Amino acid sequence: MDKQLLLDLSKEELAEELKKLKQPGFRAKQVLEGIYKHHYRDFSEFRNVPNSLKTDLEAGFLIDPIVSSESIVSKDKRTIKYLFEVQQGSRIETVLMKYSDRNTVCISTQVGCPMGCVFCATGQMGFSRNLSSGEIMGQVLFVMRALEVNSEKLTNLVFMGMGEPFLNYPAVMKTIENLTDPELLNFGARRITISTVGIIPKLREFTALDSQVNLAVSLHAPENELRSKLVPANRMHPLKSLIAACKEYTDKTRRRITFEYALIDGVNDSDIQAKQLISLVKGMLCHVNLIALNPSKDYPMPGSSQERVNAFAKILTDYGIPCSIRLRRGIEINAGCGQLAQSQQTQ
Ligand code: SAH
Ligand code: SF4
Repeated sequence: MDKQLLLDLSKEELAEELKKLKQPGFRAKQVLEGIYKHHYRDFSEFRNVPNSLKTDLEAGFLIDPIVSSESIVSKDKRTIKYLFEVQQGSRIETVLMKYSDRNTVCISTQVGCPMGCVFCATGQMGFSRNLSSGEIMGQVLFVMRALEVNSEKLTNLVFMGMGEPFLNYPAVMKTIENLTDPELLNFGARRITISTVGIIPKLREFTALDSQVNLAVSLHAPENELRSKLVPANRMHPLKSLIAACKEYTDKTRRRITFEYALIDGVNDSDIQAKQLISLVKGMLCHVNLIALNPSKDYPMPGSSQERVNAFAKILTDYGIPCSIRLRRGIEINAGCGQLAQSQQTQ
């Protein structure tokens, strides 16, 4: 039988498992501290638990889901892409972006993605399976350990790697619980962002949680015909209903929503389309995040020029819609937004 992944467990579930091993109540806290405070990967590293328990844990459990890893560093050394092999031979990618004031990790939630957005390398590769919450957490702990080598800390976390987080909702929410629990990683919810293509029922569930985790919704087009071509999920979750669900989110939570919009040369970047986007989102507590499309294997259109991106941004800001232009990072190592597709593009 395969060993159980400890990172898959909530703290209550871990306490249950230790009870089955006839351990006193305080052991759960010690084991959790080893994993989430000291970031141990291996039971041999635990100093505060008896050897007999280490042997029992070793027999039934695994801490780290990552079977093997490779990393690729960008020329400026500030973007690192990790290629991880997890259970069942699945390969996923995780990206660390270092800025002067923060270190952000971009983590994957699925192996591939079933949503098939035409411009996204992950969408182009199709879907294999959901990651478990422990496999998602394992990416975070791996990057934390890598940063600790240079006495650095992880400050921000974005669910913007491979996959659609709202299609793996229970695992993603369990990961967030373990990330933010003061007794576990104690990572600030406000420093976490979930990005979704817009799965409306899950967006509503998320709204009901009133979580402090930030929400980003990927729009990429201001009208249904074009959005359905670029983002096939739009056929199930069309703009009118999606924007209504976003409005419910901002009304209920009083939190700003981010709309992501990748600008594609001659496709969705005209002045008229900027004005259509304004009509769609005006009056909402929102922020628009623009990025020039990154190249991916199966999509021929280039990203918009810097001038076009600036002009598009100006139309939005002149109208009073807060807007930022996302820096393109790690393009030469295929670590940019929408470029994650296992190692197939990295040779
Ligand atoms: N599935 C989620 C999160 C992962 S994708 C989502 O779609 O939101 C993270 C972000 O990268 C999304 O906004 C996505 O639309 C964007 N993206 C995908 N392909 C891209 C590309 N080639 N260039 C720039 N951004 C891209
Ligand atoms: Fe999936 Fe997001 Fe890529 Fe679309 S953009 S295929 S939803 S990962």
